[in-house]
Amino acid sequence: MITFDNTEIAFAGKNDRDLQWTYRLFQLIGKPWLVKLSKVGTELAFKLKLPINGIIKKTIFKHFCGGESIDDCSRKIEELAAFNIGTILDYSVEGKSTAGDLDRTRDEIIASITAAANSDSIPFAVFKVTGISKTDLLQKSNDGIVDLNAQEKEDMGMAMARIDAICEAAYEAGIPVFIDAEDSWFQKAIDRIAEAMMAKYNREKPIVYTTLQMYRHDRIAYLNQLKEDSIAANYYPGVKLVRGAYMEKEREKAEKEGYPSPIQPTKIATDHDYNLAMKFLVENIDRFAICAGTHNEDSSQYLIELMEKNNIAKDNPRVYFAQLLGMSDHISYNVAYAGYNVAKYVPYGPIKEVMPYLLRRAQENTSVAGQMGRELSLIVKERKRRKLAK
Ligand SMILES: Cc1cc2nc3c(=O)[nH]c(=O)nc-3n(C[C@H](O)[C@H](O)[C@H](O)COP(=O)(O)OP(=O)(O)OC[C@H]3O[C@@H](n4cnc5c(N)ncnc54)[C@H](O)[C@@H]3O)c2cc1C
Repeated sequence: MITFDNTEIAFAGKNDRDLQWTYRLFQLIGKPWLVKLSKVGTELAFKLKLPINGIIKKTIFKHFCGGESIDDCSRKIEELAAFNIGTILDYSVEGKSTAGDLDRTRDEIIASITAAANSDSIPFAVFKVTGISKTDLLQKSNDGIVDLNAQEKEDMGMAMARIDAICEAAYEAGIPVFIDAEDSWFQKAIDRIAEAMMAKYNREKPIVYTTLQMYRHDRIAYLNQLKEDSIAANYYPGVKLVRGAYMEKEREKAEKEGYPSPIQPTKIATDHDYNLAMKFLVENIDRFAICAGTHNEDSSQYLIELMEKNNIAKDNPRVYFAQLLGMSDHISYNVAYAGYNVAKYVPYGPIKEVMPYLLRRAQENTSVAGQMGRELSLIVKERKRRKLAK
């Protein structure tokens, strides 16, 4: 049992000025009207080529991102490492479609693997399949459409070659790599790709990790199948477990197009399956590796309980806790302080390109999301504690 509200540990990486600044930022992004306005405002400003990079860089970007390049992130990597928290460099550029741009993204991800191989503080790499493939083709593949024209076949072959190059680089460097989970209209194809990569590169140990979104009602069945398949094909699957980030979009599309929603009926059902999957993975740790990507305190606590119950050492490399930079430091810092493996996604990329990521984080932290209250109240608690201690 560990406590997450030890704010002294949670904010040990922030001096008074940083804390005051974070307080202001969370107060601002707590206002839904302001976040909505910022979305429209920044899009317009970029179109009009107004010089807004500076202000974004000093505010929301500074909080949620490591920098514009891998080199830029080195300070953040060191800051986290000082508290035994690893970094997962996440090149957060989205929406590219030309072969040249997709190749550049592949090269950037391979560069993040090289950076990890040369550091003790970067335990994983990560990529999104939609970041290195043409999404219309991925959707066709998802829907089982095999009737592709010559150009499409070539593009698909190039996408598969990019994915293989990344996984091979991870294998050669001995750095495990996460394949993020995405919208359900791509995910069947992504699952097949992840399974093929795991079968190829996870023969000795988990190197390629697939991601399971437990807000989907079919994932427990999928996990059982994955165990059987991996035994039959003789490989060790890595699983990053998340609840899932695209719920509203999923429900809207299902309703609009008249197919049954892939999403669980309630939050309780999602939470139930998340914890059930965690139990399954811990009980099958001889075969699987798990990374719990969550900001949920109960799930984090439950994973600690499961590890104790199953006699798994705190620093067993097959079990990791992970959060996003700028969110839920009270979990990351307290869990790392207690001796468990913890890492944070540190997104990076050119400011304009990471705007969609930043706006998603801002939206997630508006007052309606609930999490916001928690972040702010912990900062308030720590500011009071520091005042009293002086
Ligand atoms: C390290 C890391 C990696 C990540 N990688 C991915 C990824 O690859 N793909 C991806 O999709 N997301 C990813 N995420 C985002 C993740 O899905 C969200 O952070 C997560 O959904 C927030 O949930 P939580 O576990 O923190 O807990 P909570 O805040 O307790 O749960 C919120 C989540 O519960 C679910 N939920 C809420 N209401 C309902 C409802 N009414 N019915 C059903 N379900 C509901 C939704 O998934 C919602 O996001 C990642 C997060 C982290 C920290």
